[in-house]
Amino acid sequence: MTIPFNKPFMTGRELSNIAQAHMNGHLSGDGFFTKQCHRWLETHSRAQRALLTHSCTAALEMAALLIDLEPGDEVILPSFTFVSTANAFVLRGAVPVFLDIRADTLNIDERLIEAAITPRTKAICVVHYAGVSCEMDTILEIAARHNLRVIEDAAQGIYSTYKGRPLGAIGELGALSFHETKNIISGEGGALLIRDEALAERAEVIREKGTNRSKFFRGQVDKYTWVDVGSSYLPSELIAAFLAAQIDEGETITRNRLAIWDRYHAWAEKYEVRGLLRRPIVPAHCTHNAHMYYLLMPDLERRTRFIAKMKESGISTVFHYIPLHSAPAGKRYGRHAGDMAITDSTSERLVRLPLWVGLEEHLDRVLAAADDALAGL
Ligand SMILES: *Cc1c(COP(=O)(O)O)cnc(C)c1O
Repeated sequence: MTIPFNKPFMTGRELSNIAQAHMNGHLSGDGFFTKQCHRWLETHSRAQRALLTHSCTAALEMAALLIDLEPGDEVILPSFTFVSTANAFVLRGAVPVFLDIRADTLNIDERLIEAAITPRTKAICVVHYAGVSCEMDTILEIAARHNLRVIEDAAQGIYSTYKGRPLGAIGELGALSFHETKNIISGEGGALLIRDEALAERAEVIREKGTNRSKFFRGQVDKYTWVDVGSSYLPSELIAAFLAAQIDEGETITRNRLAIWDRYHAWAEKYEVRGLLRRPIVPAHCTHNAHMYYLLMPDLERRTRFIAKMKESGISTVFHYIPLHSAPAGKRYGRHAGDMAITDSTSERLVRLPLWVGLEEHLDRVLAAADDALAGL
């Protein structure tokens, strides 16, 4: 049997929730299950408002609309991230300004932000890589001093904390992902977290095609109409029903993932001591959600050989990201500020090991194969 890199975990309650939504006869967005997910997200994240979206990409696009970006405005973000972090702003005509990452957490290097600020800079979009938080206090302080908006791409960050605060509601706006490769899933799915009430009403409008339909449903206006720009960013109740089942098991899922992560981490220590690889680093003031386990190999050649040997043993391991500053669209729409050495080197050396609920049964096999692969490097 081949061990896949990812295998979506299902709790067993998803289908009965979907059947319930079917019986309720309300299939479009914002029904019973959507409201249940909103309440949980608001309580858990401490955001004033949470709104389900059909993806994290959609939540980031809503964030870009909410901060009123204009063509030529600049948004500072890390180069080492998924394309959606940049596309959301490019779609508004803004220019992504890519920064290098820290060598320890692989998050945006907050010490480089100030030098990258220009009169056009409007926002900073941070990415909590592998569910480990960026240095939010420093970032919020810089943003306040320069009057910049702060958006968190917390796609990987559900159940993680920074100094006790859940990720996604530390900055003004936060985006979560429930894509099937993330910890809590609905196939495709996401949420926008809105820290303060001030942006909540406009977020509702943007999500509902630019109409005040949400107010209408609450009986606050007697007819609804087109009041602002917007699109259709809300998921169907069927998706929310699926997600509600996942949220019910969210803590168990996280515990299971952490147990696998801890085993990888203990296993890899001997190789790190010998200088053969580097393990993930989680600062003491952060807790993480075991979104991913990665190894940093010494160089591209050894990573390539490691992945090939794991594949021969039937184990799928993967790497990412092509740095955005060197991707064709990144060059066309954005620019980078300063040296990108850590981003470039990380992109060549990082390898992700399988991590999914149920993998615990196969972990001995994965580790034995990894021992073999590393012995031959
Ligand atoms: C997965 C991911 C996204 C995109 O999430 P979707 O829900 O698939 O749109 C965005 N940013 C980061 C950092 C991600 O890991």
